[in-house]
Amino acid sequence: MSDPALHPCFLGPYAENDALLEQLVTEFLRDHVYWRRNIHPEDPPAIPTRARHRADFQAFEARLRRELHLLSAALKRSVPFHSQRYLGHMVSDLLIPGLVAQILTLPYNPNNVSEEAAPVTLDMEREAGMQLAAMLGYGVDARRLPCAFGHLTSGGTTANFQALRLALALKCYPLALRAARLDGIDLAGDDLDAFLMPVDRSIEVICAAQRLLSAMSPRERQQAGRRIEEARVEQMGLAAFLDAHPALSTPLVLAPATAHYSWSKGMKLLGLGRRQLVQLPEAGMRICAEAADELIDRLERERRPVLLAVGILGSTEFGTIDPIDRLCDARDRSAGRGFGFGVHVDAAWGGYLMSLLRDEQGGLRGIDAVGREFARFPRPEVYRAMSAVSRSDSVTIDPHKLGYLPYGAGAFLCRDRRPVELLAEAADYVFDEAGSGEPGSGYSAIGRYEIEGSNPGAMAAAVCVTHRVMPLDAAHFGRIQAATIRGAEAFRDLLADWVPRMAPRFRVVVPFEPDCNLLCIALNPVGNEDLAACNGFMRRLQARLAVDPAMPRPEQSFYGSSTTLRGDALGGEAMRALLQALGIAAPADGEELAALRLKVLRHTLMNPFLLDEVNGINYLARYLAYLEVLLPELLETHAGR
Ligand SMILES: *Cc1c(COP(=O)(O)O)cnc(C)c1O
Repeated sequence: MSDPALHPCFLGPYAENDALLEQLVTEFLRDHVYWRRNIHPEDPPAIPTRARHRADFQAFEARLRRELHLLSAALKRSVPFHSQRYLGHMVSDLLIPGLVAQILTLPYNPNNVSEEAAPVTLDMEREAGMQLAAMLGYGVDARRLPCAFGHLTSGGTTANFQALRLALALKCYPLALRAARLDGIDLAGDDLDAFLMPVDRSIEVICAAQRLLSAMSPRERQQAGRRIEEARVEQMGLAAFLDAHPALSTPLVLAPATAHYSWSKGMKLLGLGRRQLVQLPEAGMRICAEAADELIDRLERERRPVLLAVGILGSTEFGTIDPIDRLCDARDRSAGRGFGFGVHVDAAWGGYLMSLLRDEQGGLRGIDAVGREFARFPRPEVYRAMSAVSRSDSVTIDPHKLGYLPYGAGAFLCRDRRPVELLAEAADYVFDEAGSGEPGSGYSAIGRYEIEGSNPGAMAAAVCVTHRVMPLDAAHFGRIQAATIRGAEAFRDLLADWVPRMAPRFRVVVPFEPDCNLLCIALNPVGNEDLAACNGFMRRLQARLAVDPAMPRPEQSFYGSSTTLRGDALGGEAMRALLQALGIAAPADGEELAALRLKVLRHTLMNPFLLDEVNGINYLARYLAYLEVLLPELLETHAGR
């Protein structure tokens, strides 16, 4: 059933809600005009009424109109993300609440770098952070520890950088405290013990130091503060910091092969080096918990410092969900033995799926309640992983992905706001430990902690208003997420009939079962046993499904995307079984299998109107019917050459 709750949310594939959008945009543009006129109504118009009769005004307007027409015409070559025929990348239609809130705010142009430049939208950014934190199950009551903290970023990439930056600051700070030799801070053990300290313990140490500093006289405090500052990695640089502490080595970041390349970027940017990005072993496109435990135990035995273990909630290419619960278990186990690292959940894609796990009171819904409206979602291990996100140390979520908002909106969240002060450019040595979040307290000035400088208050308004109109629970925002999962399940069911129908000419395999709303298909022409030829065929197929920026074809029937399956992410034996099912000769050697790359179709089933019951159209069935014609055609044109 297409969900009537979704009908007012989007402009719509046919721009069905054009009147609503137009009314709102015009109404609030007018409102902005009145606001300008009423600030000091006694000030007369500065631009004379007759200005527009001048020739140069008219020439300007003519140039402006011409350029806008050209732009508007050129934009017709855009990819129709809003269409039910678009199954490609992680983007779809935009939510009207966010779109209108952003357009409404743009002419006010608030800058969320500081309270002074954004009296309204900075509060909204704080609120958006807390709305997202509550969806994850983080504590959001400032009177209780730990209380979460969150802010918006330009996207998931920057949010992941922020996770690295915070983890590094937190890991290195106890060493600066040791070096500063404050009386009353007792850090038993050596430098390496301090560097391996569990996250929660580091936070306690930092707070103890804050208490000590705040009890000092202003002069003493300033001197001690300076000594700490001089010994911080942020002041010394990583090279000098490690030189000063020869027992330490550059900490590792553990992430699976399915991780987004922003992690590699982040390692370069922070000077940690890509070599320190260590692959967490995978099987079936998800972190293999047992093998990850083994790796972590080995690193612990070797006393190799680890900054973060990254688990993914909805991988970019495959939508797979890592066992976050098991990563948190491993962290807690190691922490009990004094070997600390944080768990970061990269939920840039899947973060908003968490709304399905929240009831309207903010409670966690049980697996049966969540699963009631789906055929298979959530598999028990997926539910366990999602309900464990509240135990992680930090999370990345992209409102510009499954939040259906315009680009430029990511978010960084952390479970405990206390260490965030370490990110401030000018450290404040006395801060409110409870972090009340009231205006005036340290945590309210979000801009002090962000990577970005100036950043759009209009985006904060868009995110916050959207979450207010559609709260992040199963009964509201979850309706959209549910539609995407029903779409994926319907697609999976259609494939059960389609695969045997294609069998005379193509072998079709679903290489791994979907965890949420992304679904991959591997296929190979019958008779072909060569992997390179199969990949070549898939590339030609992808060329037909992708948008050609040089020559877009408005008559294009469907838009898709493709990706590459890696043997080391799928697992050697699973790769062998997959190749066999496709009829491709598989190498006997395990290492060769791990190194294999297989091109597959990747479908992002994000459009909430894929199953159009109003008109009795199933766009996914139409897509498969389209492939049924396209595939043999591609094979023949190639054979004929
Ligand atoms: C998209 C994505 C990112 C990067 O986010 P941007 O908003 O593109 O910067 C990081 N991680 C995952 C899992 C993603 O899906």
